[in-house]
Amino acid sequence: MQSEQAQADTLYIQRLNDNHRAEVRVICVAILFALLVFALWDIHFLGTNSPIIYPSLFTRFIICLPLFITIFLLSYCNPVPRLDIWLTLGFLSVCTTTVIIHFYYQSIFITLPIDSILLCVIVIYFIPNIFAYQKAFLGIVMMVMYFIFLILKDPKLYELIRAAVYLGLLNLAGIIHSISFDRQRRAIYNKNQFLKEMARTDQLTGAENRHRFDDRFNDLLEQARLENQGIAVAIVDIDFFKQYNDHYGHFAGDECLIKVAQTLLHLKRHPLDSCIRFGGEEFILIKYGVNFEQSVGWGQKIIATIHQLNIPHEESELDQRLTVSAGLIHWQPNSALTRTQLMKLADDALYKAKRNGRNQVHVHMSKV
Ligand code: GH3
Ligand code: MG
Ligand code: MG
Repeated sequence: MQSEQAQADTLYIQRLNDNHRAEVRVICVAILFALLVFALWDIHFLGTNSPIIYPSLFTRFIICLPLFITIFLLSYCNPVPRLDIWLTLGFLSVCTTTVIIHFYYQSIFITLPIDSILLCVIVIYFIPNIFAYQKAFLGIVMMVMYFIFLILKDPKLYELIRAAVYLGLLNLAGIIHSISFDRQRRAIYNKNQFLKEMARTDQLTGAENRHRFDDRFNDLLEQARLENQGIAVAIVDIDFFKQYNDHYGHFAGDECLIKVAQTLLHLKRHPLDSCIRFGGEEFILIKYGVNFEQSVGWGQKIIATIHQLNIPHEESELDQRLTVSAGLIHWQPNSALTRTQLMKLADDALYKAKRNGRNQVHVHMSKV
């Protein structure tokens, strides 16, 4: 079982990759364009008779091209793959190619300047969807590979020092910037998640709010249709709650609402089960993936669970303790009912449960 933090991290990485699909495609196209420009530059600079022209072209296209085409295509996959890892691999291929090309040019006694190495490192620190540790990895690998090249070539102290200063400082600045950038981005993400959570939660009870229900219910029915699953919908209303407030006071009423809501929330089993505070002392409960018999049993369990809380209610005309009534309807995946019709039938069932004496569930019997 993943810890909560690990789950949040996984979700964050997934969202980030999802949000950056378009940028990833732009990066792939830009890299493919750069490959073409550098290839033309190789041909123009070296000429087609040079012994290193074909190895250079081969290296550029065979190492980088397939990877970036793959990444481009992967950006269309659902669910989104780890594009950050793929892009890190892609840029590792760019770094490797750049250093290999330095070796090729050196083999025909042309020493390329450090510029392309620096350019490559700068670009790495600007990639939007890879993380600071991935950028640092690429920057340092690039630096190490260039040092190996300098040492294997005919090492000159001033070249080594210059490379160490340029690449060292560039990497240091890049890493500091990337870490701070990642932290800020995560903080903004966390804040957005918190605001989203607030917008969909009832502040008093912690149940989902009506806005969330309106937002999600049609999607839920659609998913149930696709997965051929039944759904039970119950409208639960506290009995004689006005009297409770009048007798114990509004604050005690609030405490009672919280207790009832928390108890109902604990009845959730499936990730698609919900407990929504629909109005003052009314809740909508949704149970996903149940048949008719199971939903009847579940409705009775709701009533019994609240009864067993033993919350004193001296003014109740029933039992001197708090009770609820519920109207329940079982929805089948082949049903043509709209959400409004469904809620109306559940509300009618609740009305019957109240009229029949409260502290009970009334189930809408005909198939819907
Ligand atoms: P019934 O058994 O027919 O449902 O009777 P009832 O008294 O529960 O029904 P009614 O709808 O007349 O009363 C609902 C009461 O719920 C009225 C209101 O004071 C109370 N209420 C609604 N929202 C809140 C709230 O947020 N906090 C508190 N403490 N009470 C609330
Ligand atoms: Mg009531
Ligand atoms: Mg009511």
